Amino acid sequence: MIIAITCAVAIAVIAFILGVRPKDIPQPEPVSPFLHLDERKAAIYENLRDLQFEFRLGKLSDDDYQSTKKDLQKELARVLAEVDKIKNAGGASVQPPPPAKVVVPPTGFICPACGAKFPTALKFCGECGKPMRLAQ
Ligand SMILES: [Zn+2]
Repeated sequence: MIIAITCAVAIAVIAFILGVRPKDIPQPEPVSPFLHLDERKAAIYENLRDLQFEFRLGKLSDDDYQSTKKDLQKELARVLAEVDKIKNAGGASVQPPPPAKVVVPPTGFICPACGAKFPTALKFCGECGKPMRLAQ
């Protein structure tokens, strides 16, 4: 039942996209390769859940369950490998890499007097005004 509804929704969405895209979006935005793979990954996870559910209901034989599960896990491994490949390649063609983050020590700087936390080193605590030193 859930599968039937999901299929119907998926078909409706696809029909909607196909029907709308050509005229409304002349130049579709480039889709992130991750998005596509994430969707596939999510679909596989969902299939695995459904499979487990049906197996528990006794709708599947142990053999069917095991072989289908193996297939799905293989597919999942392929998708994950693809994600890794794109990540290692930088995924640069479609999306610019995220800007490098400023490295902040996980603990930050903690005032020894009042315990207030600050992301940067301060000579004096912004909370209580007492001299500070590095927390680490
Ligand atoms: Zn303080």
